[in-house]
Amino acid sequence: MASPRDRLEAVEAEESASRRGSSGVEVVFPSDPAFSAPLCPHGPTLLFVKVSQGKEETRRFYACSACRDRKDCNFFQWEDEKLSEARLAAREAHNRRCQPPLSRRQCVERYLKFIELPLTQRKFCQRCQQLLLPDEWGRHCEHQVMGDVSITQLRRPSQLLYPLENKKANAQYLFADRSCQFLVDLLSTLGFRRVLCVGTPRLHELIMSTASGDKKSNIKSLLLDIDFRYSQFYMEDSFCHYNMFNHHFFDGKAALEVCRAFLQEDEGEGVIMVTDPPFGGLVEPLAVTFKKLIAMWKEGQSQDDSHKELPIFWIFPYFFESRICQFFPSFCMLDYQVDYDNHALYKHGKTGRKQSPVRIFTNVPRDKIILPTEEGYRLCPLCQRYVSLDNQHCEHCNSCTSKDGRKWRHCFLCKKCVKPSWIHCGICNHCALPGHSCEGPKDGCFICGELDHKRSTCPNIAPSKRANKAVRKQKQRKSNKMKMETTKGQSMNHTSVTRKKKRRERAHQYLCS
Ligand code: SAH
Ligand code: ZN
Ligand code: ZN
Ligand code: ZN
Ligand code: ZN
Repeated sequence: MASPRDRLEAVEAEESASRRGSSGVEVVFPSDPAFSAPLCPHGPTLLFVKVSQGKEETRRFYACSACRDRKDCNFFQWEDEKLSEARLAAREAHNRRCQPPLSRRQCVERYLKFIELPLTQRKFCQRCQQLLLPDEWGRHCEHQVMGDVSITQLRRPSQLLYPLENKKANAQYLFADRSCQFLVDLLSTLGFRRVLCVGTPRLHELIMSTASGDKKSNIKSLLLDIDFRYSQFYMEDSFCHYNMFNHHFFDGKAALEVCRAFLQEDEGEGVIMVTDPPFGGLVEPLAVTFKKLIAMWKEGQSQDDSHKELPIFWIFPYFFESRICQFFPSFCMLDYQVDYDNHALYKHGKTGRKQSPVRIFTNVPRDKIILPTEEGYRLCPLCQRYVSLDNQHCEHCNSCTSKDGRKWRHCFLCKKCVKPSWIHCGICNHCALPGHSCEGPKDGCFICGELDHKRSTCPNIAPSKRANKAVRKQKQRKSNKMKMETTKGQSMNHTSVTRKKKRRERAHQYLCS
């Protein structure tokens, strides 16, 4: 299981990277309309540029938009690299081979056959993560197979499938029931009739099962997700195999039209997009994608509605606030803490971290949103919005200033509220953790500011590490072919141990800060 801390660190790294201005790897979006990036199995690749000390390196490269780990997708190409016909053909063949074995239509046909079967013949192979038809049983007889798959179970595929645990690509963190139910109730109270679920399979299935059970709240839902396993459980009009980092529909135009029709139904009235992307993902490509979905929705509007915005819930950690608002200035952050099932640190309970850092960013007016008082949220009469129990109204800032749910403290020198654990540092001239290094990042690591390492070995660069590594690897391959495997293995092990230790310390520091 991917350690929850990895996710936390990835997130913090992006936070610190975005705070320090651009460092690490950035995505470039060429303005040329004729621009088309080479394709990997996950659709168009993204163009990356390595940035160090705030300066872009000149040589740019293409890499996979979806996979952060080269093990999952090893696409790499320098921007100026010319490929032979033979290599292009091989790449195309590879891309085809990587596509799912069944078309979307075939999946639907299987599903229809499956639900016709009597209960005793409905089997699910846990190893292959696949519903089995009777003529396939033989091939899975050595596997762990679950029998008597009920309609109720078919309606909750996120409980049947195991969550993907791939650390860097698409680790799945499923909503705790309480948070998921809160979202469904909120969407229904706000009067939405259609929900575009982008990377929220558990929300999708809860809406779908609520809709069929309770005629009153008949909300429709369409799931867009890269996890192809979900295609076994849904008809074409409720699931599209989709990559949210490049707006790629794996099933081409037909799937894109499903999405378009969904957004544009009723002239775009009554629809909202809810998304919970992987936190290690870069914010900018996501923003570019969401703007494309917004544009698709807008095309269906009549002229006089042109000032309206597509309502959006973007679920993401609170420390991305400035980054998200950079791309969507109308968004604000709700105090509601989103809890997860399979996330030890982010869920409530005895062992879990009490305060989840995950929030909802939205352009739905904050005064329309009621947070559950039974979970401790309360209305601030001055701000006219619901806040966490300990989020106190600061009379100097004239708002409820806490971002993380704890009671913040006003610093008169900084002229703003700061985390309770911070103290005002006369050298830095602002508040910071006690024990921070006052020299700042200049002589230490460019990314995290620590003095004991340089940026190249920073344990904090997880979000862009893969892309960085890709560059390093290419360089290494050229300069350093002779290195013996054993030594390499040993030295890598050693660094990874110390890195892990440092990471742990950093995560600890974050949790206690
Ligand atoms: N909390 C949500 C799940 C969030 S986990 C819920 O309970 O419904 C992130 C989700 O995004 C997963 O479902 C994962 O499959 C999906 N995902 C990851 N990378 C993606 C990509 N590149 N494009 C589309 N979906 C992606
Ligand atoms: Zn790829
Ligand atoms: Zn099997
Ligand atoms: Zn204040
Ligand atoms: Zn201060």
